Amino acid sequence: MSNAHHTIILGCGAMGSACAYHLARRGVPVLALEQFDIPHSRGSSHGHSRMIRMAYHEHADYVPLLRRAYALWRELEAVSGQPLFHMPGGLYMGRADGAFIGGVTHAARTHGLSHRLLDRATMAREFPQFVVPNDYIGFFEPTAGLLIPERIVATHADQALRAGADLRGHEPALEWSSDPRGVRVRTARGEYRADRLVVTSGAWASTVVAGLGVPLRVTRQTLGWFWPREHAMFDRGRCPVWAIEQPDGYEFYGFPLMPEAPGFKLARHRPGPTTDPDRNEWNVLPGDEEDLRACLHRHIPGAQGSLLGLRVCMYTMTPDSHFIIDRHPKHDNVFVACGFSGHGFKFSSVVGEVLADLAQRGRTDHPIEFLGLSRFQKSPGGG
Ligand SMILES: Cc1cc2nc3c(=O)[nH]c(=O)nc-3n(C[C@H](O)[C@H](O)[C@H](O)COP(=O)(O)OP(=O)(O)OC[C@H]3O[C@@H](n4cnc5c(N)ncnc54)[C@H](O)[C@@H]3O)c2cc1C
Repeated sequence: MSNAHHTIILGCGAMGSACAYHLARRGVPVLALEQFDIPHSRGSSHGHSRMIRMAYHEHADYVPLLRRAYALWRELEAVSGQPLFHMPGGLYMGRADGAFIGGVTHAARTHGLSHRLLDRATMAREFPQFVVPNDYIGFFEPTAGLLIPERIVATHADQALRAGADLRGHEPALEWSSDPRGVRVRTARGEYRADRLVVTSGAWASTVVAGLGVPLRVTRQTLGWFWPREHAMFDRGRCPVWAIEQPDGYEFYGFPLMPEAPGFKLARHRPGPTTDPDRNEWNVLPGDEEDLRACLHRHIPGAQGSLLGLRVCMYTMTPDSHFIIDRHPKHDNVFVACGFSGHGFKFSSVVGEVLADLAQRGRTDHPIEFLGLSRFQKSPGGG
């Protein structure tokens, strides 16, 4: 069979647009299908900012991926001429003997990452914006910062198109199939054939992956923007990106003031209520604002002020909160990247490169074994 495209990408959000970019720049004929606009605000990649940090305690193999991700963000800025990445540094606050500070310190020491530990008095002097309990200390990482997600999806898409990719918005894939000769994807406009399929459908990947026996939980998350009473101390020159450990083990986190959206943005990094991506509640609910205000009241009193915006977004959680990037176990020519569990955006540049490697060569040199589906297989006799 002679296929019109080498690869079809199903979903053109953060990961799909990055994959299209890398394949197109390698001269590989690629088609990406997106059910909504490119970009849009009904998935997981909107809200004007995403944190990027290197002291990753979640798994040692994320750090080499992050090093490559940072390089690719700078490369994309150079190629496009767009500012996509700001690096005001990151301040993480938590119990001196807690898992959060212990984890980032261990990651920084293991990988030789630049950082400073700040006792409570030093933290109060250098970062008077934050009020923390007596047993908290700070960890400052100079290479942490923020990415601008909508602009990044648009830039990956724009550069992919300029390199010859075929991208189509408002064209949901209705079904796909594969056999040894290739893959077929049906939409309301017709049927497409290709050698490979890459599934990057975010919160909608559940249906694909559910068939593999890995439950993905989609959750409703809220983001808020407030105008600080003392706004000058929250400017990008004075305020880093930040995260504050909470008694439940999760964190509140946020960003300095940015021109992309007025106000001081914060959110809670804890999976919210389970939702269905096709029936998600995108409107503000009672309690959304109060939840975020409680953090301002407790920890950032100078940022209290009028509410400017509330947005809703979705996490797609795997059982262990690590991503899934792998070949489909039942279809040799299909690759899946999903379950980014609320921390995937910073990796999207390198995930695009990994997926392009997999689609083009069937393998990648990047360390992604720890993200494979085999980790969910029960060991014999295991519970
Ligand atoms: C509130 C919030 C805060 C976050 N903060 C951070 C952070 O600070 N740092 C960080 O690194 N990460 C963060 N994340 C996580 C990160 O944003 C996500 O992991 C990442 O954006 C997921 O990208 P994706 O490509 O999988 O999903 P998406 O970007 O949502 O893309 C999936 C796309 O597939 C499309 N699609 C689905 N089904 C079909 C179909 N049948 N046909 C065609 N198209 C289809 C969808 O419309 C969508 O555009 C956050 C997430 C949220 C929600």
